[in-house]
Amino acid sequence: MRSIETTAELRHQIATARSRGERVGFVPTLGGLHDGHLELIRTAHAQCDFVVVSVFLNPTQFAAGEDFARYPRTPDVDAEIAAAGGADILWLPDRLTIYPKGSEISVRVGALGASLCGRARPDHFDGVATVVTKLLGAVTPDVMYVGEKDYQQAHVLDRLVRELLIPVEVRLVPTVRSPDGLALSSRNAYLSDAERTAALSIPRALEIAVGHVAEGERSVGRLRAQVEIVLAEADGLEVEYVEFIDPDDLSSVDGIDGATRLLIAARIGSTRLIDNVELVPTGIPAHHATEMSGAPR
Ligand code: AMP
Repeated sequence: MRSIETTAELRHQIATARSRGERVGFVPTLGGLHDGHLELIRTAHAQCDFVVVSVFLNPTQFAAGEDFARYPRTPDVDAEIAAAGGADILWLPDRLTIYPKGSEISVRVGALGASLCGRARPDHFDGVATVVTKLLGAVTPDVMYVGEKDYQQAHVLDRLVRELLIPVEVRLVPTVRSPDGLALSSRNAYLSDAERTAALSIPRALEIAVGHVAEGERSVGRLRAQVEIVLAEADGLEVEYVEFIDPDDLSSVDGIDGATRLLIAARIGSTRLIDNVELVPTGIPAHHATEMSGAPR
């Protein structure tokens, strides 16, 4: 694996891979890599010939007062994980490469970025869409891999490449969890032992909802009440939202009539965590598609 900083070198390496007829997979990250990122990189490696992982802690997706300053910066671990997953290139652009002095251009996400996490983080998805557009412009991959854990983000990015006519497929990779059920996240590093115990109520609440739906429950009102009881039992956990949504357009649903996503966002101390699960009523096929958009080159 090569670590590269400049766009010129990146483009040269990608052009060389393409001249060998190789298919390019891309995994964009903020750094602080863990086994969730590893799974994305491994999947890219299994499905593509040449894999680029970027680490860029993007300032524009953090609002003032959020955790940009203390976000985990673990360059050595990042390089180890990227190499272990089979990355060919670890791209580490500097801030001026992505946001040149006096930069003028950004991408604005509409209603899709204003609901759910967008209510607490109003400019967040504009920052994500802007940086990913730039990263895609530099890497020009055939396939981009994104995690199911950040469900709304995956949808925003899928919509982004379709609306901006960017010729890349977006593939969704299932959430990787610790053995105790907690979804892996760079932000888990902030949690004290007591906070981690409280955080476990999130996957527990999701599992309980899955169980009720498997037993035939169809009422969002009753499911929400069950979920909220589990979350209320956790010490120091503050629920931001519990939403039942249609996986196609992220709109709220009031009954489990087809495959539905349950999303939870909560704060534990100063840490904000998100997680989600698919709810599949018996007799209805899972919605599950790993390929979100199809724009093969
Ligand atoms: P981040 O560095 O947090 O921006 O994440 C980079 C990519 O890894 C995003 O597509 C995330 O959705 C994905 N990701 C983060 N955590 C997990 C996880 N636990 N399982 C699967 N994918 C993940």
